[in-house]
Amino acid sequence: AERILVVGAGHAAVQLAANLRQEGHEGSIILIGDEPGLPYQRPPLSKAYMKDGDAERLVLKPQSFFEKNAIERRESARVVSVDRAGRTVRLEDGETIGYDHLVFATGARNARPPIEGADREGIAELRSLAHARAIRDRLEASMRAIVVGGGFIGLEFAAMAEAAGVATTVLEAGSRLMARAVSPAISARFLAHHRLSGTDVRLGAKVVAIEARQSPDPERVHLESGEVLEGDLVLVATGVRANSELAEAAGLACENGITVDETLSTEDAAVSAIGDCAAVPGAFGARERLESIQAATDQARHLARRLTGKGGGAYHAVPWFWSDQGPLKLQIAGLTAEARAFVEAGEDMVLGFREDRLVSVETVNRPGDHMAARKILAGDEPPSRAALEAVGFDLRAFAK
Ligand code: FAD
Repeated sequence: AERILVVGAGHAAVQLAANLRQEGHEGSIILIGDEPGLPYQRPPLSKAYMKDGDAERLVLKPQSFFEKNAIERRESARVVSVDRAGRTVRLEDGETIGYDHLVFATGARNARPPIEGADREGIAELRSLAHARAIRDRLEASMRAIVVGGGFIGLEFAAMAEAAGVATTVLEAGSRLMARAVSPAISARFLAHHRLSGTDVRLGAKVVAIEARQSPDPERVHLESGEVLEGDLVLVATGVRANSELAEAAGLACENGITVDETLSTEDAAVSAIGDCAAVPGAFGARERLESIQAATDQARHLARRLTGKGGGAYHAVPWFWSDQGPLKLQIAGLTAEARAFVEAGEDMVLGFREDRLVSVETVNRPGDHMAARKILAGDEPPSRAALEAVGFDLRAFAK
């Protein structure tokens, strides 16, 4: 029977392995991940884990799950090269392992912004459990935290730090928060919230350098304006880059992620890519790389069906995302980046339209409306603004 080898052991990899067994794959499944321990969930790292430090709750599946399902798992094992002609991968320790089908589920890593000193040891980043542990250890002894980057992770962390009594400053170079992923109205809503909570959020604040200091001296963050801020903990959270170098070195097309077609296959029929590392064809012609649990999960399910011969058509799913910042739960259905016009429909709901069709719905603390939005967006013909206006933007009524 076929051997399916997965590079990476994160959300996408574990979901794929589970679905392959569910769909009846009888061949071997090997997950090779470079992190230690059982595969775990990343979203809580900037949320609940910052507060409770409970790593056990993060585990995706217990060891018994992998044993019962005969899913072989290598941890702290890094794939360093792929030989597509010979269908083998090579690990850091020199071992080579053969495959019939190879799946890249290598995820992403934090981007390194062009800030002098940002990659120095002691400057915090947050992607892995190891990072989160290190931050938690330091947070206890911190009075002031500085977050570089006003995106989801920086703001989630800021909310947790502020609640823990750490005076927190968020420095965002752009003119609004979470600009890549939310509408201006939602940016403004969260800006107001964070400021009310006591966080010092600065927009248009460009960091040029983080000064090397001897502990226990505070870190010094230099802004383009000449201002210097001091903090006991500096977290750099300025977005991620796909882990696509391995695929690229193996001669596969990559551009902001590993290029795949609508079936999630690379140009090599024996190689697929899913999750944060994959650049998939999007709804409006452009390729998109989604960094979300939804994408990792849905793409894994889709690929499992293709690899077991249960399906093989085009991957299509409504993207959705959430972010918890203090008491505010933001949920996004669809992609705001696709919208060309936004309509604020009542409190805490923003609809995005393109060519007069609904493409995104952002809600704050409105889970029912979020679920309705996902249902509506999954329909063949998303509604027009007029059709939604006619029901007073009552998505739940419309979805029935
Ligand atoms: P990953 O989870 O990144 O897993 C990839 C794994 O592959 C990693 O362990 C990596 O080390 C390993 N790897 C890479 N290269 C190799 C190699 N050569 N050999 C072996 N192993 C390798 N998403 C949401 O939808 N909602 C949220 O609220 C949310 N919050 C988040 C908060 C934080 C702090 C972070 C970091 C992410 C958050 N995300 C959230 C994003 C979400 O976690 C990712 O979209 C998801 O983890 C992607 O899964 P993946 O399997 O594609 O990649």
